Amino acid sequence: MTFVYPDAIVSTAGHVDHGKTQTTYALSGVWVMRHSEEIKKAMTIKLGYAQVGIYDCGDEYYYSDGLLQDGKCPNGNEPKLVRMISLLDVPGHEVLVATMVSDAAVVDGAVMVVDASQPVPQPQTAEHFAVLDVIGVRHMVVAQNKIDLVTREKAIENYQQIREFLRGTWAEKAKVVPISALHKVNIDVLATYLAKEIPRREAETGKPARFSVLRSFNVNPPGTPPEKLRGGVLGGTLLQGVLRVGDEIEIRPGLKLEKGYQPIRTKVLSIEYSGHKVEEARPGGLVGIMTGLDPALTKADALAGAVAGKPGTLPPVWTAVEIETRPMPRMGGEKPEPIKQGETVLVAVGPATVFGVVQSVKKDVATVALKKAVCAEQGAKAVLIRQVKTRWIVTHYGVLRG
Ligand code: GDP
Ligand code: MG
Repeated sequence: MTFVYPDAIVSTAGHVDHGKTQTTYALSGVWVMRHSEEIKKAMTIKLGYAQVGIYDCGDEYYYSDGLLQDGKCPNGNEPKLVRMISLLDVPGHEVLVATMVSDAAVVDGAVMVVDASQPVPQPQTAEHFAVLDVIGVRHMVVAQNKIDLVTREKAIENYQQIREFLRGTWAEKAKVVPISALHKVNIDVLATYLAKEIPRREAETGKPARFSVLRSFNVNPPGTPPEKLRGGVLGGTLLQGVLRVGDEIEIRPGLKLEKGYQPIRTKVLSIEYSGHKVEEARPGGLVGIMTGLDPALTKADALAGAVAGKPGTLPPVWTAVEIETRPMPRMGGEKPEPIKQGETVLVAVGPATVFGVVQSVKKDVATVALKKAVCAEQGAKAVLIRQVKTRWIVTHYGVLRG
């Protein structure tokens, strides 16, 4: 089948258990990870993503990969690829907030999944909508899910609540598509609206390559003989520029040595968009890059949170940061407790989420010593995640002052 570059990253959003992961599966035909909602000690944020091809089969609505049968349209026609999008499925509520606000992956649009059997809005639905608003996302399709669980009357009532919730906002005219992700009902209509409503990203290919490493893998089955070992794989998204097979790359922060961090140098050996091998990675999608690195360096997300690009072009590496913070707007309007000196926090900046200890707080500027270095531009967006009772919660967001 022909390949086209994914030209948008679409994030799922919506309250826990409303069916974000199930909807991702229905659209794409692949299971991304199912993860616990908790942010755990020494966590690495693991993001699930899937490439979704959207096809014209000659019917009124398009189809997506999850609806094709052995690569064929359900009506037997040859599918014509209309566009490819990357669907990001974020495991937990706070992780979603941190990922979006810290620019780990630049999101072009959202699928807001709403459970039709519940009153609207549920707290995380409202918060995700607030986050989309803060980060400037202006394109959204609502998937009114679990339609199999409700009567027609209930579905209409729930639809009106969704409309009421969106009234007066930028998403006032968002399409609302009743679906059952579990039974794959109306997924064609959802795919059609995604293809039509989410704009294509203008790939900023002229700038130096900047790759956000969101995951990293060892793709060799256990017991692979050394001569058959394949290099370490980086999964993530190109924020700008292009990367080509054969390019030299540098990965920062890199290896921790006694005297600080040493960038890792390697080569791009192959580039893959969910099974499609290409010569060049471009911005706007989630992509896997096989490198010449020893897979021991990339196994189990060991390099998640790093940044890769052409040698000499990457932003600085920080082991302590000053962050100008503002309280994150939360539902219920509760103000977070002030940040305290000596407090342990999680700092999310770009693709990295690392623990740190607050050294000082002056006005709205917190200085945080990081347990693990991060590679980020001055002025990069940053998020503070703090423990409130037993949960980790995004309480402040702001910019890195270095
Ligand atoms: P997430 O937390 O938003 O990612 O929710 P999941 O996708 O993990 O779904 C939560 C639960 O709802 C799972 O048990 C799903 O099987 C179930 N579910 C998802 N979509 C549907 C649907 O359309 N109908 C029904 N009846 N159950 C669904
Ligand atoms: Mg999920």
